[in-house]
Amino acid sequence: METSYQFGIDILVIVAIVQFLFGAAAVWLFAGAAKTGGSDAAGTEEMEALREKQREDSKKIQEAMQQVYRLTGRIGHDVGEHNARVKQINDELSGAAGERSDDLESAVLAAVANMTQANEKLQSELRSAEAKLAEQAAALQSQMEMARTDALTGALNRRAFDDEIQRRVSEYQRYRTPVSLLLFDIDHFKKFNDTYGHQTGDDVLCHVACTLSMVMRDVDLVCRYGGEEFAIILPATESPGAILAAERARTAIERMVVESNGQQLKVTVSGGIAESLAGEEVDSLVARADQGLYASKKAGRNCVHLHDGTKLIPSGKQGAAESPKAAEPKQAETKSTDRAAETTAKDPLQSLPNREAFVEDVRRRVEQHHKYHAPVTILYCGVDSFGAIVGRHGHEAGNVVLRAVAQFLKAVLRDQEMLARIAEDRFAIVLAGVNAGEALQKIERIRQAVEKCRLPVDGLAEVNFTASFGLAEINELDDATMLMNRGLEAYAHAAAKKNCIQVEGRPVAV
Ligand code: GH3
Ligand code: MG
Ligand code: MG
Repeated sequence: METSYQFGIDILVIVAIVQFLFGAAAVWLFAGAAKTGGSDAAGTEEMEALREKQREDSKKIQEAMQQVYRLTGRIGHDVGEHNARVKQINDELSGAAGERSDDLESAVLAAVANMTQANEKLQSELRSAEAKLAEQAAALQSQMEMARTDALTGALNRRAFDDEIQRRVSEYQRYRTPVSLLLFDIDHFKKFNDTYGHQTGDDVLCHVACTLSMVMRDVDLVCRYGGEEFAIILPATESPGAILAAERARTAIERMVVESNGQQLKVTVSGGIAESLAGEEVDSLVARADQGLYASKKAGRNCVHLHDGTKLIPSGKQGAAESPKAAEPKQAETKSTDRAAETTAKDPLQSLPNREAFVEDVRRRVEQHHKYHAPVTILYCGVDSFGAIVGRHGHEAGNVVLRAVAQFLKAVLRDQEMLARIAEDRFAIVLAGVNAGEALQKIERIRQAVEKCRLPVDGLAEVNFTASFGLAEINELDDATMLMNRGLEAYAHAAAKKNCIQVEGRPVAV
């Protein structure tokens, strides 16, 4: 009988722990909601919308938690009843111990039957309670994620930023793990709204958020800091690394083309960088990054400045004074002289090299490999279920998706590399001097960025889409055809699973 009591006590302990954990989640959520996290940059309307969103989130979370409390309370009650029943059976058996042996035997049989029944009842109730608890926990988890996410761009929101930066700065003060902060502000953003409408302004914000999350490392945290400002927390990164990351992000955005209402627009951002210093509070770190951002605006925009604790330093080889300046918002095809010109043809998809050019490139790289032994990896990438996207949203939406994927791929290309379009919904790249392991890290970032990207179509619907990737690294026996065949085979495996990367028969779990 002791085992049954012990079983009951264990369940009660678990119930208490579950209630404690949900209580802790509530404290976290409501403490965050109380903060409201408004930025100076955000207007009062934005602040009110933010507060309203937080009130809604808190209400939903509160409801989910009340259900969990009711459920755990019921488990406690059921276990209590079960224990009382076991005790009663125990008493009946002790009373029967002094009676005649045949009476004793029937009393034992009846007790065993009762016991089995009581245990089965409790077990089935526990099973159903367990399933409901798991359901509630999943609902709560998704509410908690939503409470940390910006609804428009999918980036982390201001509240998540406040929590994370505080945690990282405290870690730095205690363990000296460095952390850097980047602040980016879209240049002349107001004019996008004024010239093309608010919807286009929103589209620009979504594209900038997608590009930032794609060019940053997995561990970096991309947050929407205010209206058209983004903050990126770079854990374990000192200022030289932060400068490289900031320049990579700035140039990726400069190369980006925003699709909105049939127009293709160019965007630039200005940035500020600061690395945490000994004894420094969060406010001061943010203020230094903000001073860097202000210096970049003053220097003509489309550049980044580091605040090193004492002075402002322009990032980039030539310094801000010589870096390309921000264009006023305009359509992509009106620019013709700078690097961005590559992507400013009327339809960037039309101007990509085709399958023949890709095959030629592979042949050349394979020849070079056999001469100089530098690694060569080829990559195939296709949009999953492209036909279904076109079927549901139309041809133009399909093109928007293809252009977005092409941009993601282009953003990680090095200068000597070429993106080819080898079929309607498929791209290929020869990654020269890179082995499959190194390529894999880049590709995983692209896969995740594509997965997170939500593209607005015609200002009405949103398209979510995924892409699959096949990689093959050259070996000594390969000729160009063998290498391409292995790459295509890897791609076919990945595409069958969707949202997947496959390296020559080696699947990467997603
Ligand atoms: P600068 O280069 O100096 O940064 O100029 P700017 O025009 O980008 O800066 P300004 O602060 O003058 O304008 C920011 C604008 O961003 C004003 C505000 O209406 C707009 N905005 C803020 N949040 C959103 C949003 O969620 N969607 C849209 N479409 N616009 C927004
Ligand atoms: Mg601003
Ligand atoms: Mg701005």
